[in-house]
Amino acid sequence: MSDLQQTLDQLRAALGDAQVLTGEAIGQRHYSDWTGHAPACAAALLLPRTTEQVSIALRICNDAGQSVVPQGGMTGLAGGAIPTTADIALSVERLHGIEEIDAAAATISVWAGTTLQEIQQAASGAGFLFPLDLGARGSCQIGGNIATNAGGNAVIRYGMTRELVLGLEVVLADGRVLNLMNKMIKNNCGYDLKQCFIGSEGTLGVITRAVLKLAPQPGETTTLLCALPDYASAVSLLRRVQRDVGTPQAYELMWQDFFRMGVSWLENPVAPMPDEYPLYVLLECAGSRQALEQTVEAAMQAGEVADAILAASHTQARALWKIREATGEFPVRLAPLNFDISLPIGQIGDFAQMCRQRLDQRWPGNHSVYFGHIGDSNLHLTVDCNSLPQPAPILEIEELVYTAVGELGGAVSAEHGIGLLKREFLHHSVSAEALAVMRQLKASFDPKGILNPGKILG
Ligand SMILES: Cc1cc2nc3c(=O)[nH]c(=O)nc-3n(C[C@H](O)[C@H](O)[C@H](O)COP(=O)(O)OP(=O)(O)OC[C@H]3O[C@@H](n4cnc5c(N)ncnc54)[C@H](O)[C@@H]3O)c2cc1C
Repeated sequence: MSDLQQTLDQLRAALGDAQVLTGEAIGQRHYSDWTGHAPACAAALLLPRTTEQVSIALRICNDAGQSVVPQGGMTGLAGGAIPTTADIALSVERLHGIEEIDAAAATISVWAGTTLQEIQQAASGAGFLFPLDLGARGSCQIGGNIATNAGGNAVIRYGMTRELVLGLEVVLADGRVLNLMNKMIKNNCGYDLKQCFIGSEGTLGVITRAVLKLAPQPGETTTLLCALPDYASAVSLLRRVQRDVGTPQAYELMWQDFFRMGVSWLENPVAPMPDEYPLYVLLECAGSRQALEQTVEAAMQAGEVADAILAASHTQARALWKIREATGEFPVRLAPLNFDISLPIGQIGDFAQMCRQRLDQRWPGNHSVYFGHIGDSNLHLTVDCNSLPQPAPILEIEELVYTAVGELGGAVSAEHGIGLLKREFLHHSVSAEALAVMRQLKASFDPKGILNPGKILG
């Protein structure tokens, strides 16, 4: 009997046949994540129902030296949950549900396989807001959100997932269960081990439960579109709004060509204001509408804002957001090569200019657009591969962009993680010494290297 067969027999005996699938019984959605990169049917798919079953499964695999790929909702954008045919996939989807809402502590305790949307709805039902929000909310699971330290729409106001996690339960590669289910804001008892697992993309342990922070519901928000004369004004307007009104819920910057493209894809392609300004920002703020109006007036007098529209209704606000949501059309209208990068906020304008110049010099006539959540220092850049010589020189473009990111001290991944797809570029943002320490950390949590091999560190 092969080693794999022996391991599968042990897993079936421990978990039951219904929790160990092989061959065609493994649904195709477990083959690859949202990127569709390198799909593969794993040697088996484990569907444990309890923390104890995760623990037993990992102990068996660790003893056998069998690699295991943790899977959540498979909406990742870095290839982190993609198995090879030699791996066993472990999905936490059956570790599902809300355990408790503690209104006094303003926390929600959940199983890792619960979708983000289910958590948002449960929080809302109890009169709170769970502020993590992203387009994949209906399918992504909180275990995956934590494992990728997901960002999303409200980071400027509430922080990344890391800021929303108070406690975790994690199963280590050898099956030991770490109960770190803390509800307290202040807790300085030695090393904060949970931080190691947040953003570790399934390479250090399997997250089974979490305690999350809840926020008060924000009340009415006001949406505003402003045209800006230059990048420096985008930064000074943000700081002015933070000082005089409060930190916005969203601060989405669009360079002129993105704005024009977004408008041209609208059902009624009429720009809400002249489209000749270099930059546009879509801003959403809770709090006093009057205070926001006064702040924008002051910004106009200071020359930071060239034109502005304050949405008069929810419908008008939605219409303004439609321009920013042009990104949803990228896969059908472009051949997009998307970058999710981070830079010190003061340097994003210079980066966009430098990157565009280098791309234009190397591939005259190429089409690239720039937009981002700049309040979180996050810039998105999309190159349309249809505008390049074919086959599109993808690796060369990636090298060009990530080299520029490294030169300005930026991060090759702002929020999607490293997974498989950015592994080769990690060195542009992480020093050799820091990479070596990451390897040491991996070896101490997972000495046999069974958890998600090849991801992040290669
Ligand atoms: C339409 C759309 C919009 C998106 N918008 C955003 C956005 O705004 N911001 C953002 O940050 N991301 C965004 N994403 C990416 C994606 O939704 C997030 O990365 C999400 O956090 C992944 O969750 P998942 O459950 O699908 O994880 P998966 O894709 O299943 O896995 C992702 C990684 O986490 C690991 N993992 C999963 N579950 C566990 C677990 N329980 N324990 C340990 N490791 C685990 C996997 O091994 C893998 O490395 C978007 C994706 C889509 C499709």
